[in-house]
Amino acid sequence: MTATDELVAATSALSLDADGTSTKRLDVHMHICPPALHAAMTACGMGMPPVGTLKAAKDAMRSLGTQRGILSCSVPGPAAVAGVEEGRLLARQCNEEILGVVEEGKTEEVDLGYWAGTPNWVDVKGAIREIEWALDKPQRDRGVVGIVVVATYAGKLLGDPFFTPIWETLDRLEAVVFIHPTFAAEPSTPIAGTLPPFIAEFPLQTTRTAYDLVLTGTLSRFKNVRVLLPHAGGAVPVLADKILASLGAAGEGVGSALEDQTFGREEILDALRRFYYDTALSTGTVAMHGLAHFAQHDRVVYGSDCTFCTPTGVPQAMAQQLEDWLDSEDGRKSGLTRQAVMYENAQRLLL
Ligand SMILES: [Zn+2]
Repeated sequence: MTATDELVAATSALSLDADGTSTKRLDVHMHICPPALHAAMTACGMGMPPVGTLKAAKDAMRSLGTQRGILSCSVPGPAAVAGVEEGRLLARQCNEEILGVVEEGKTEEVDLGYWAGTPNWVDVKGAIREIEWALDKPQRDRGVVGIVVVATYAGKLLGDPFFTPIWETLDRLEAVVFIHPTFAAEPSTPIAGTLPPFIAEFPLQTTRTAYDLVLTGTLSRFKNVRVLLPHAGGAVPVLADKILASLGAAGEGVGSALEDQTFGREEILDALRRFYYDTALSTGTVAMHGLAHFAQHDRVVYGSDCTFCTPTGVPQAMAQQLEDWLDSEDGRKSGLTRQAVMYENAQRLLL
């Protein structure tokens, strides 16, 4: 059997439920690197391979049996550029280029959507301006489903009061916000000398900003915003008990970073359960078991991280692992279903 035959066989297996019926797939977590971003990163000395073409994205969707894929800029996205005017220009260029790809790539079989990027949030006015443009009807009609942001800007986590005007805008526009980790300004030493530090740093960066949004009251104040965390929320589920314990005896009367607010244990847990969680690169039994016990079941959605996880066959193998677990006795007992995780939950979120 050739490699292509094996891929086709795997795709056929992915397209059927345990009972033989087919399941649609909606992938909320796909990346593409537009020419404008690649040029900017190269100019900054952050050279990355030109991964994430429309062809690569569509090939991945075809091999995974994905009907609808939501693209976003490869990190760091427009935040790669620090200058105000340059950052605003890059954000608009990236958004226009990927929206062009989305419009070009839609067919009867393949639907595409887009998480629009913003300039670095240090430029509050620029970020607000781009969010208002991206979430306006013409851009929504072209495929924008929400806004993608990185988990930290200039050392500030996303609950920092400096960013409050941006959250006010997102709330007013009832945005869906996809938070994605980005490369650390000063990455730590490669693991075993070869493994990139971001493998471990990305999930922890997501975790820090997620708890920051909860404990500053940002998530509670801006209830019209729905927030999606990648990679099963990083360490959000497994650190909940530790963080609650560290905040005070029995978690009662916990003081927040905002002096006029206090949160109890149940309020914190409720806020953590308001997040949506995708399954990108987190399809193992431990990660899924944790999500099933921690997250609201209608807020767990499928993501692949294509075309970022580039080794051949990895997205297919992880999708298979996820579906095998959902079909297993453990998965069935968890209450999560294949149809809900692979399609229906995200379809409701992104309508
Ligand atoms: Zn990603």
